[in-house]
Amino acid sequence: MLSIILPTYNEQDNIERAYKAIRDVLIPEEIDFELVYVNDGSKDRSCEKIYELTKIVTDAKIRGVSFSRNFGKEAAILAGLANATGDVCAVMDCDLQHPEGTLVEMYRLWEQGFEVIEGVKRSRGKENLLYRGFAKLFYKLISRAAGVDMARASDFKMLDRKVVDEYIKLPERNIFFRALSSWMGYKSITVEFDVRDRASGASKWSMDSLVKYAVGSISAFSTAPMQLITLSGVFFFFFSLVMGIQSLVKWFSGDALEGFTTVILLILIIGSLIMVSLGIIGYYLARIYEEIKARPRYIVDEIISSDD
Ligand code: UDP
Ligand code: MG
Repeated sequence: MLSIILPTYNEQDNIERAYKAIRDVLIPEEIDFELVYVNDGSKDRSCEKIYELTKIVTDAKIRGVSFSRNFGKEAAILAGLANATGDVCAVMDCDLQHPEGTLVEMYRLWEQGFEVIEGVKRSRGKENLLYRGFAKLFYKLISRAAGVDMARASDFKMLDRKVVDEYIKLPERNIFFRALSSWMGYKSITVEFDVRDRASGASKWSMDSLVKYAVGSISAFSTAPMQLITLSGVFFFFFSLVMGIQSLVKWFSGDALEGFTTVILLILIIGSLIMVSLGIIGYYLARIYEEIKARPRYIVDEIISSDD
């Protein structure tokens, strides 16, 4: 059976639409499936809509996992995978931006023995210029950190049971599905798809949440910012050697009072460098603190299933 995980946050109009679209492509192909909606603390009627769906649908299993509040998409994906029962699990957006037709293609590849089938975007859909610029920078950084090309990666993936079991065992709080599935290895393949426009509603990403997401996932995957501090330290050490020798030579030759501007500049540069460095270290410390607190990554309020 194929489990399809749908992270859902304020998607009341898309819940039934997603079911219908998926059903229309999977039933003719005779693929047995279950839908796992993870209601990520929606403020609209999403929860009721999922409940209604579990009552009326007869040709597939429907399960709804409801969080006690909004925990974010990563948590929703994780909870969906943890509550899925299929031999193979797919994660896709509830707003139908991921084409359901690709599920069939992915499923056939899984049948051929692939364990991680990653959807990559052929085109990035409609995005404004600023967003595109930042996205590009972010993906450059994260691609270097993760060692895989992330520019076209998406959360649209199909994973074998084996991979899902390993994924939900990962202990970290700050998790990044998009990159981790390729970090895990296994026999993988990519499938291209075109991002569609949202079926209805609006994207949940604000500039603020995007920046948080970007910084969070880069720090989760890489300690490069901290190594940058070491690098700038080494650079300034050599710089200080040169400056030191120059100052000594000046002192011995008797004209040492000049260069006040240099002193001010050096204090400013080094001062700000130290503060930025402390900030970066502090950020990683905060991350470690979050991890050792070991709070649950999400709290499930209720699970509803069409079985009972
Ligand atoms: N989503 C979620 N929790 C959140 C934000 C989003 O579960 O806090 C879900 C949302 O319902 C959708 C998917 O994640 O199914 C992608 O969200 P969205 O469409 O807002 O992002 P975009 O497609 O613009 O990247
Ligand atoms: Mg979307």
